[in-house]
Amino acid sequence: MPTTARLNSIQTILQRPSVAVSTPQSLEEIWAHDVFTLGRMKSALPKAVFKSIQRSIREGSKLDSTIADTVAQAMKDWATDRGALYYAHVFYPLTNLTAEKHDGFIAPQGDGTVISEFTGKLLVQGEPDGSSFPNGGIRSTFEARGYTAWDVTSPAYLMPTPNGLTLCIPTVFVSWTGEALDKKTPLLRSNAAMDRQARRLLALLGETEIAPVNSSCGAEQEYFLVDAAFTALRTDLQLAGRTLFGAPSAKGQQFDDHYFGAIPERVQVFMQDVEHQLYRLGIPAKTRHNEVAPGQFEIAPFHEAANVATDHQQLIMTVLKATAKKHGFTCLLHEKPFAGVNGSGKHVNWSIGNATQGNLLDPGDTPHQNLQFLLFCGAVIRGVHRYGPLLRSVVATAGNDHRLGANEAPPAIISMYLGSQLEDVFNQIREGQLTGSASGGTMTLGVDTLPEFTKDPSDRNRTSPFAFTGNRFEFRAVGSGQSVAGPLVAMNTLLADSIGWVADQLEGRLQAGDAISTAAFAVLQQVMREHGAIIFGGDGYSSDWHQRAVSERGLENLPTSADALPVLRRPEVRELFERQGVLSAVELESRFAVYAEQYVLAIDVECRLALQMARTQIYSAAVRYLGELGGALKEQQTMGLHPSLALRDRLGALLHQLNDGCDALELALGAKPHGDAVAEIRHCADQLMPLLGQLRNAVDGLEAVVDDGLWPLPTHGEMLFVR
Ligand code: ADP
Ligand code: MG
Repeated sequence: MPTTARLNSIQTILQRPSVAVSTPQSLEEIWAHDVFTLGRMKSALPKAVFKSIQRSIREGSKLDSTIADTVAQAMKDWATDRGALYYAHVFYPLTNLTAEKHDGFIAPQGDGTVISEFTGKLLVQGEPDGSSFPNGGIRSTFEARGYTAWDVTSPAYLMPTPNGLTLCIPTVFVSWTGEALDKKTPLLRSNAAMDRQARRLLALLGETEIAPVNSSCGAEQEYFLVDAAFTALRTDLQLAGRTLFGAPSAKGQQFDDHYFGAIPERVQVFMQDVEHQLYRLGIPAKTRHNEVAPGQFEIAPFHEAANVATDHQQLIMTVLKATAKKHGFTCLLHEKPFAGVNGSGKHVNWSIGNATQGNLLDPGDTPHQNLQFLLFCGAVIRGVHRYGPLLRSVVATAGNDHRLGANEAPPAIISMYLGSQLEDVFNQIREGQLTGSASGGTMTLGVDTLPEFTKDPSDRNRTSPFAFTGNRFEFRAVGSGQSVAGPLVAMNTLLADSIGWVADQLEGRLQAGDAISTAAFAVLQQVMREHGAIIFGGDGYSSDWHQRAVSERGLENLPTSADALPVLRRPEVRELFERQGVLSAVELESRFAVYAEQYVLAIDVECRLALQMARTQIYSAAVRYLGELGGALKEQQTMGLHPSLALRDRLGALLHQLNDGCDALELALGAKPHGDAVAEIRHCADQLMPLLGQLRNAVDGLEAVVDDGLWPLPTHGEMLFVR
């Protein structure tokens, strides 16, 4: 029988009722109820002011300062009518979390009264003290102020607590010298870069009316729910977000009975609560289902403009965590909360498009659309091949290291999946002749009809980190706890750069007198000859691929963050970001420094926590059991029995292993290099992580032999199955 503490948890959980919290409303009633939408702005603002705002949103430009006061007044009136007394500038520092600076609308008057006040200046410029946010050395602390300014393209909204509403304003966060300290600023810049180059290419293709091009993102969020009664007994779940110890449960996911299974009522009630809140915030939550591992679930919103989708993604994570608490759960967004079962990712579905030409990654029905599609798709192929290691580096976190390359998640080698039909077309282009397709017919680019690309949903390859899925790409290596901004910045920027290259080539050939179809064919052929090695439709999990990818294709395998993060320092990556005006060299270096530090800190916390748990919880339980066992063995001997001493010996050996493991880990922690970021991350990956693994082996070995009635930690089986 489990310890009393564990038994009490189990009993508490089995008696927990489903928590009904929100009264269901119709979709129309509830949708964007708490958002200062375009519609609300339109009715609250003078026509000219509204027009100006609309233009800023469409073009992604800054709010015109001459109208800021009018907008601020309208926003405040709307919020205070709803009962808000405070506003918050919400921003996105480099930690993957969301930060907020709250201020009251209150303005004391000379006569002892107060009025509520909110000006244009306060809307476009907040001044959080930035000194405690990681900045990678951009600012010295004596000039630590940063400022935040409303990102007009992302609407303001009201966040509730049981005691009232706060007006939240999504903002960029920059230093006084204008350097980006956040994840939003480069995302906006990367979108602008992609817009510039995409419009150039569309013009070359003969388009005359070209609306601004924007990137879209729909991110599928995976997460685990564990009952809070178990979390209370596990410091590792509380502080590190994953179990540092725990033998695999006898029953795991081997029955494949959880994926798309019936959602348990208590969980569904939680999901519905989450969805109601998201709808009020104007977040189009669309899909919910069980995931592969027991206790694992997914929520996917409908795709939106990348910038808005990114802010919404952050809100989804916030709402998931807060709502889980209300329902007696802990929501785990860690990439690998439990060894032995699947980890969690965030599939980032991404495309680019505009109002005049539509989705530029959609094959379309006419030859003209097909030509356009092939050029944009070719640009993606080139970009992903040239900057694959960059894509690996933007998903490099301590948590994601446990997931990538495991046999359920994309490998740490970036390759690209096109689907058999499209791959066939591109292979023919490489060979210099486009004679047919899987569906038959002769083709000349842009003249005859290309094959109709069937969007066959079964034509999928789950083992690929970067897959074409009919009208978009799906970047699957992103970690579940990450902001999607970094991956989107990388994708937009490498695509902008590649589209620019394609446009340069086309320009040259058109000037030389080539017809557009001939020019396009030649450019695509060059793309395939130089970059076709990135395309891979086989099994990304196989060890054969891991070898061939490197030896035959020249792709890089960057298994840990220590391998991947230094990519941010490579000259070609620095030049890419500078050329596209997305990140300066200083900003990029500061990002490397911050991400390296986050990685080091995460592993440092895990190691110190593991030491503490091993010594104060595991060791004591094991020696207590050894004492009991010794007594029982002695008793049997006095009875003239000859008991086996194997268990005692095994216990003794594991205790040795535990002590030695602790000592070795402690020593390595003390030997940590300081000051050199690369040496520090290498130390984590090469010294600390293997030692942490060895210590875990000892503890998990003990779990298999120590009396269950003394084992202090809820087991994996309990946490994954009891709810
Ligand atoms: P699956 O699990 O089969 O990959 P889901 O339905 O769970 O698919 O999620 C697909 C995601 O892709 C959704 O967020 C959807 O809105 C998004 N998506 C669909 N089309 C596009 C597109 N053109 N650009 C970006 N995202 C898209
Ligand atoms: Mg899905």
